Amino acid sequence: MLPVVYSPRYEIKLPGHVWPTDKYRLIAEQLPSEVEWREPREASWDDLALVHTSEYLAKIREDRLTANEIATLELPWYPALADGFRLMVGGTCDAARAALDRGLAAHLGGGLHHAFANHGEGFCPLNDVAVAIRVLQRDCGIRRAAVIDCDVHHGNGTAMIFERDPSVFTFSIHQQHNYPVFKPRSDLDVGIEDGADDQMYLAALSGALPRVLESRPELAVYLAGADPFEEDRLGGLAVTKAGLAERDRLVIEACRKAGVPVAMALSGGYAADVRDTVDIHVRTVEIMIGLQ
Ligand SMILES: [Zn+2]
Repeated sequence: MLPVVYSPRYEIKLPGHVWPTDKYRLIAEQLPSEVEWREPREASWDDLALVHTSEYLAKIREDRLTANEIATLELPWYPALADGFRLMVGGTCDAARAALDRGLAAHLGGGLHHAFANHGEGFCPLNDVAVAIRVLQRDCGIRRAAVIDCDVHHGNGTAMIFERDPSVFTFSIHQQHNYPVFKPRSDLDVGIEDGADDQMYLAALSGALPRVLESRPELAVYLAGADPFEEDRLGGLAVTKAGLAERDRLVIEACRKAGVPVAMALSGGYAADVRDTVDIHVRTVEIMIGLQ
């Protein structure tokens, strides 16, 4: 059975915010029964310090984020959020461990790819993707890892964190003319034009995946963002639900064929109707179940 990491504590309160934090519960409620549920453990401050600077972690821990830092984060910050996000980072770590053990694992959360070592941006205070890779390199004897970031927004924080690290191959396929304005170089960036349809998007993805796998990763963290969807409020592509399902199949099959374990994290999804975002993520997990 597919290990699925999830906590009801992910439904943090963000009144009026575009981030539908109820999506986590809604996805969990709709998953098929043949999954193995796992409760995440909070990432420790030591785990977080593998990626984030001690100055930045102290600011979070002691509730000393400045008004500017909170504005960049684009979250209505309050201290209890720190625990919620530490739990979500722990969830990606747990999913990554489960993936090493079982080949595939899903995290119904995470994908906080806009967090840098020394600051947070765009709803992402802590970078779960980077922390999970560093924790597995420390604890599980893996050397090389890859990030397959298919959120519609560029994975700027992750790219910068691993910029000088040849052991981690960062790949981002994203809408070129969208947030973030400054896109630090990943090992492989594929910027998609506004309004790209299924065919254009999937052709670009298919062309890129062999290059990611040539780096011979021992683990791939897959950010299966729902925001390339044509009706997403923060995306500008024209990819359909069927196109996103094909994307998931392409990524997971390519990794399976190459013998690379995959830990999936959700990342973004802001469809006008949250049920669309939920459908897309549920389908991703169903595809993973089918490809075990
Ligand atoms: Zn996004």
